[in-house]
Amino acid sequence: MIDCHYLEPTTVSEACALLAEHGDGAKVVAGGQQMSLLLRNGLIQPSHLISIQHVSGLEDIAESADGVTIGAKVTLNRLIGVDNAHPTLRALSRAVEDVADQQIRNFATLGGAICEAHPASDINVVLSTLNASVKLVSASGERVVSIDDFVTDAFATAVRPGELLTEVVVPSFDLTSAAAAYRRFVLRAGDYSVVGVGTFVSLDGAGSCQDVRIVVGNCSGTPAQAQEAEGRLKGHNIVGNNALADAGDLAAAHVAPSGDPMASSEYKIDLVNVLTREALAEAVALATG
Ligand SMILES: Cc1cc2nc3c(=O)[nH]c(=O)nc-3n(C[C@H](O)[C@H](O)[C@H](O)COP(=O)(O)OP(=O)(O)OC[C@H]3O[C@@H](n4cnc5c(N)ncnc54)[C@H](O)[C@@H]3O)c2cc1C
Repeated sequence: MIDCHYLEPTTVSEACALLAEHGDGAKVVAGGQQMSLLLRNGLIQPSHLISIQHVSGLEDIAESADGVTIGAKVTLNRLIGVDNAHPTLRALSRAVEDVADQQIRNFATLGGAICEAHPASDINVVLSTLNASVKLVSASGERVVSIDDFVTDAFATAVRPGELLTEVVVPSFDLTSAAAAYRRFVLRAGDYSVVGVGTFVSLDGAGSCQDVRIVVGNCSGTPAQAQEAEGRLKGHNIVGNNALADAGDLAAAHVAPSGDPMASSEYKIDLVNVLTREALAEAVALATG
């Protein structure tokens, strides 16, 4: 039996006050998709569960000159097709389509998916690819942290006691010359990814790469930037030559994944190569299309 107090604040400040009051024993619950597994399996024994289901102001998706702000409570299903209104979220929207199943996506929130910090998270890889950041609010103030600094290890984040993740900001980019893409490999529909790769490219009119990000998922505890592969592309013409294949080779040469029940280390390395090439090709096609 799970023996804890279940609290339902209705504002961010009330939620933060409860988190501060109950300290380490208090845990946030959003859609409950991971939390219910942790509780059922006795992996955590919180004294207080602070549900954010009824906290207002965390469910909006809004665009400004700086980018798109997504509230922590936005469910994964709501993100499917969100690129119709917010085209810079295309890669995120496409990635979410393949996450878990319809029932889980109906409850699972973006904030919960980020805070879970699963090493095979598709969402954190895409958000890193898009250079996103999160806002963390507590009773004593607020701070903004990049996704890269937020996810610190497998199932570990930079959230401090008393903090609530309230929103995610995805910076804007020029859709006429830049694009992002995400490719994943799964053994069965609904499974976590064996490997996922996100890419972002920005090109000039001659096909020269002005900016690039390549992020590899599930080859280490956190999403990992493939800097050697990025170095092969940045500042070079990458259209109609071997550049993307070279980048795939370099990304694969610089990962050292552990094998797991889904795939051996060697297989994951091969996947990094193939998925990097495919995700780059898709991003380049979108950026030049
Ligand atoms: C069967 C299954 C398959 C899955 N497959 C995939 C997949 O293929 N790809 C993928 O990327 N993900 C996958 N997931 C992960 C899924 O996306 C997350 O479990 C889900 O999004 C978590 O969201 P939630 O709202 O239910 O979080 P909860 O379970 O409520 O919380 C998760 C964690 O985050 C904390 N938390 C939640 N919200 C906040 C907040 N606003 N501020 C601070 N802390 C917070 C909680 O305290 C808890 O530690 C899968 C999950 C399941 C159960």
